[in-house]
Amino acid sequence: MNCIATIGSHSALQILKGAKLEGLKTILICLKKREKFYRSFGLADEIVIVEDFNEILDEEIQGKMLESNAIFIPHGTLISESNLEIFEKKFKPPVFGNRGIFKWEFDRILKDALLKEAGIRIPQHFENIEDVDRPVIVKLPGAEGGRGYFIAKDKHDLKNKLNEMIRRKLLKEDEKIFIQEYIIGVTLYPHFFYSPIFKRLELLGCDRRYETNIDAIGRISAKDQLELDIIPTFRVIGNIPLVIRESMLPEIFEYGERFVNATKKLIPPGMIGPFCLEMVCDENGELYTFEFSGRIVAGTNLFIDGSPYSNLLFDEPMSMGRRIAREIKIAEKEGRIEEVIT
Ligand code: AMP
Repeated sequence: MNCIATIGSHSALQILKGAKLEGLKTILICLKKREKFYRSFGLADEIVIVEDFNEILDEEIQGKMLESNAIFIPHGTLISESNLEIFEKKFKPPVFGNRGIFKWEFDRILKDALLKEAGIRIPQHFENIEDVDRPVIVKLPGAEGGRGYFIAKDKHDLKNKLNEMIRRKLLKEDEKIFIQEYIIGVTLYPHFFYSPIFKRLELLGCDRRYETNIDAIGRISAKDQLELDIIPTFRVIGNIPLVIRESMLPEIFEYGERFVNATKKLIPPGMIGPFCLEMVCDENGELYTFEFSGRIVAGTNLFIDGSPYSNLLFDEPMSMGRRIAREIKIAEKEGRIEEVIT
């Protein structure tokens, strides 16, 4: 297998570039309206046009990948757009990574269960509105990229805001919402790679997100904020590089290791390749992990030429996309490809 395939969105450019650098062939599954853009980079050996990304589940598109002996590289678009149950059970091409982990990423209850198993500190989850005794963030069903989230300062504020959302038909009365403690602090998103071939965890980079409108609110005075009655929202627009205070790195690395161990126990064969723990650090330096991504995250797009951390590990520019291709190449050479695909 010397070919990879991915979906034209999210982190596709660096996945394609990394594969080319490692001498692999590349297939891009692309929407017609994005074809010109992706062609302009000249990184895809073959472009397969689809109307909708869900078509990766169609026999014909799967057939194309199988014919080329391609390994599929999943990323965030798969989690937000596909039927994960069907993908896990029916998708025939080999997938780089553990295809069983995506439903744990999508389902917030499963997600919390995995982080708890890992012994990683998480914000408290409130099942019942009456139990809310602190500021909370409300995550609406299906809201991806933080769209539609809102903050409430206490139980009464929460009830008022929910009634207002129902009144405005932004929420149905019986809809399932996820109420989580809101941690006031700074966000950090360390990028990890777990290599089953070398049996080692690598820290390859870190970013924070640039989110509208929460990152816009601080640009106007408190008086204007109050007068305008702005509701903070969290739609991700881009990513900003971050290096972490070095004394915090050992703790963050240990969380990465605990996460890998928990996946081995709950979702065998465990983590393969890239993942991210999405954290907030409060004023006491306590780290809370409110989410994880069990695949490449878009923040790694910052480091196509390597990051301060990847440069310590590799004497050549090593993006996450290239690291994936390198793992495939070595696994293939050593006759161990089964250890990195599911
Ligand atoms: P998510 O979709 O869960 O990654 O969240 C989107 C954004 O909401 C994050 O990047 C954070 O800025 C913010 N956020 C989510 N959960 C929390 C939390 N429990 N405490 C503070 N901020 C949060």
